[in-house]
Amino acid sequence: MGSVKDYFSSLGSGIASLIKGMQVTGKEFVTPKITEKYPENRETVHVPDRFRAILTLKYDQEGRHKCIACGMCERSCPNGTIKIVSKMVDTPDGKKKKKLDNYRYDLGSCTFCQLCVTNCPTSAIEFSNDFEQAVFTRDKLVKKLNYLPEKEEPAPSPEELARIQAEREAKIAAAKAAAAAKKAAAAEAKAVDAAEEGKNPKSETPQG
Ligand code: SF4
Ligand code: SF4
Repeated sequence: MGSVKDYFSSLGSGIASLIKGMQVTGKEFVTPKITEKYPENRETVHVPDRFRAILTLKYDQEGRHKCIACGMCERSCPNGTIKIVSKMVDTPDGKKKKKLDNYRYDLGSCTFCQLCVTNCPTSAIEFSNDFEQAVFTRDKLVKKLNYLPEKEEPAPSPEELARIQAEREAKIAAAKAAAAAKKAAAAEAKAVDAAEEGKNPKSETPQG
């Protein structure tokens, strides 16, 4: 008989506890929020400009960036967050130029120390304060910062092409002149040696 009484006693105290908990929850539910209103205020929330949320490549209005793929940011990063992949392209003047192919940045391992930004010689990168970067898997934190299609270099004007051609021909002519001068100097030295040998023929050692 006692166990039945204990059972109902426990049941009653459990229900009372539940009601008390629901009262606290209900009270908090209708109490105006006084701390953080995010995400309700997503449109108006103030994030300081200097807040470092994610590394970005700066693009100008024409969709060009200033990264020269020097790799300084990659070497400055203390934990291998950045990986720069470059490629070689031909320029109108017939030279080779290194260009950025893939700027890989792993937000998941970035410590926001900003050493990469500080050491960039062309100010090509900066930190954005776009703090909403939550994703469900870590691999989504690996970003390609040069996400816009590569812009074609503006075609050189006819005057520029003529100047490049003239410079190239002048270099070739100078190289040919230098080679000819070197060849002539060598021939002259050879002739002088031959003349010297003609004046002083080698004496033969008498045989015993
Ligand atoms: S902020 Fe620091 S950790 Fe992050 S990518 Fe730049 S150098 Fe690496
Ligand atoms: S972002 Fe700056 S430091 Fe990094 S590769 Fe490009 S130019 Fe070099």
